[in-house]
Amino acid sequence: MRRHLIAGNWKMNGLKVDGIDRVERLAAMAEASPPAAEVLLCPPATLVAVLREGAKESPIVFGGQDCHIRQNGAFTGDISAAMLADIGCSYVIVGHSERRRDHGEDDQIVAAKAAAAHDAGLTAIVCVGESKAERDAGRALDVVAGQVRASLPGGANAANTVIAYEPVWAIGTGDTATPGDVAQIHRMIRDLLEEMAPGQSQRFRILYGGSVNASNAAELLALADVDGALVGGASLDPDGFAAIVAAAAP
Ligand code: PEP
Repeated sequence: MRRHLIAGNWKMNGLKVDGIDRVERLAAMAEASPPAAEVLLCPPATLVAVLREGAKESPIVFGGQDCHIRQNGAFTGDISAAMLADIGCSYVIVGHSERRRDHGEDDQIVAAKAAAAHDAGLTAIVCVGESKAERDAGRALDVVAGQVRASLPGGANAANTVIAYEPVWAIGTGDTATPGDVAQIHRMIRDLLEEMAPGQSQRFRILYGGSVNASNAAELLALADVDGALVGGASLDPDGFAAIVAAAAP
């Protein structure tokens, strides 16, 4: 009922030559063995148009890593959701912990970005996750619940919004949350979504992110409320990323 989504977040990595090589290799693997999961790449925005052109015969879809809360205007250096849609993106990540940490983005800004994504016809991947100190203090469930409540805009629904649970301490560190902890948080998020959008919670996709790789993907993706993965570092290696995709279910 919920098709797994495997999303690669390349962050600020990749020049044209690297990106083209990665996408050519992924597209060839997808052709040889069509993926059961939906496969999304979020490269730097500078690469989306050229990579999309090269992948047009493949099932790979593209997304942005962030968007502004407005669709245009005097916001030097920013990129709008409408601009991402214009170059062929169908998704955009909002509220990634690196944006929250490095750009001071709070839940209200994240909700406004998700609303801007919806207005432009994009699906927003809304990231939430607790810090190490919050987990150690036994506050992980409360913190994540608060972020989900405050980071989803009014019009969020299962078709235009995906939640990504990414414990901050697991991102880029090689540490993953235990399957038990992931299962507990994802179940809590789904229960909360039922409260927020009655009747829709079973249709929302909830991704796990945080040091997912080819070795741990199968165990995490087998959990009942895990509907895919948001993959950073491991998405830069086409073979490793393809192995994560292969571990996913339809
Ligand atoms: C991320 O950046 O969203 C992420 C999960 O990174 P990594 O897979 O490298 O931990």
